[in-house]
Amino acid sequence: MNSWASVAIPPLDKRFSTPPLSLWDTARAGSYPLPDKDLYRIYVCGITPYDATHLGHAATYLTFDLAHRYLRARGAEVRFVQNITDIDDPLLERALRDNVDWRELAQSQIALFRGDMVNLHILPPDHYIGVVEAMELVIQSITTLASRSSTYEVDKDLYFSVHADSDFGSRSHLSQEKMLEIFAERGGDPTRIGKRDPLDALLWLGHREGEPSWPSPFGEGRPGWHIECCAIALHYLEPETSSDTSIDIQGGGSDLIFPHHEMSAAQGKILQGREFASHYVHSGMIGLEGVKMSKSLGNLVFVSKLVSSGVDPMAIRWALMESHYSTDRSWSDSGLLKASEWIIRLRRALSMMETAPTDGVIASIISAQADNLDTPKSLQLIKEWVLASELGAEGGSPGELSRALDAILGLAL
Ligand code: ZN
Repeated sequence: MNSWASVAIPPLDKRFSTPPLSLWDTARAGSYPLPDKDLYRIYVCGITPYDATHLGHAATYLTFDLAHRYLRARGAEVRFVQNITDIDDPLLERALRDNVDWRELAQSQIALFRGDMVNLHILPPDHYIGVVEAMELVIQSITTLASRSSTYEVDKDLYFSVHADSDFGSRSHLSQEKMLEIFAERGGDPTRIGKRDPLDALLWLGHREGEPSWPSPFGEGRPGWHIECCAIALHYLEPETSSDTSIDIQGGGSDLIFPHHEMSAAQGKILQGREFASHYVHSGMIGLEGVKMSKSLGNLVFVSKLVSSGVDPMAIRWALMESHYSTDRSWSDSGLLKASEWIIRLRRALSMMETAPTDGVIASIISAQADNLDTPKSLQLIKEWVLASELGAEGGSPGELSRALDAILGLAL
């Protein structure tokens, strides 16, 4: 699948030191620095292409863009892979409801998503992979799981046995009761007769009348959700054999912690004999004016609609960065308006002949971002610099600040 257009990152002057990036790891329930490396491997779960791109998506991809940018600003290489769940129940259900071909629906939403990512100045992944094009990889991974006695059949469907991973549950830390509740809410089938454990997850769904299917050693069918990410990540990120974990970061929204990331990690562990990721990083959910944003409530706000109504994409980026990525946050029109005003004032200050000193603010923004991507602090530092510049302070290099804001925060001004 084509990714989107590459984005140039301005270089950061070498005199600015860049401490290691600390990120909150859900599995260890704490903030830990990523070890110094020349190459980091990041996998972020992509969209199911039927309702791209609402602000919840935008917030997630912005979060991992900030981590990506910080590591690149440190001079490291980043291998970044993202999937597209272009075959799944919600996509087929929406296509049926709207009487469109599921492939056309997916293609139209993927095109919209790419455009939104370009507008939001999100660095493209090195590999942007649809499940349909990765079908052989997914089938190979399931075959390996089967050879390691971690699968079983129920009728013509194949399941992953969660007990095959002795660490199952260690990334999400939920009670059995909570796991069962969330599993049922997010596509699982805990009550199905014939399963060995209610939490066992579908790996391969045998062919159903009227649904697309692919040939496989386990019969005609289509893959379950979790195995696709695991298979795509382990193939395209090319894990180092010497490392304790297969990849550095497994990322996504906090609604993916369970079951999706727990299952992918468990399957990845069986496939490679080691922990899947060093850091499991999650961004919070976005609400609208204090109410949870969801498809069922019909209150999704779409990036493309905001942009077509004349909203500056950098104001969307700024508004999302006003609160910390890890928290559940609320989007509001008033917040967007304030963000737009700050973008205008920042642009004006950056175009002034004389501005407040910039070295200190750049160094402080670097420190804030290194500390678990503390964007509220970074924006506060920028606001103070704008105010000081408006009041006539001198001695800064606005060109250098402009390049740093682009490199680290993705604010193209
Ligand atoms: Zn995923």
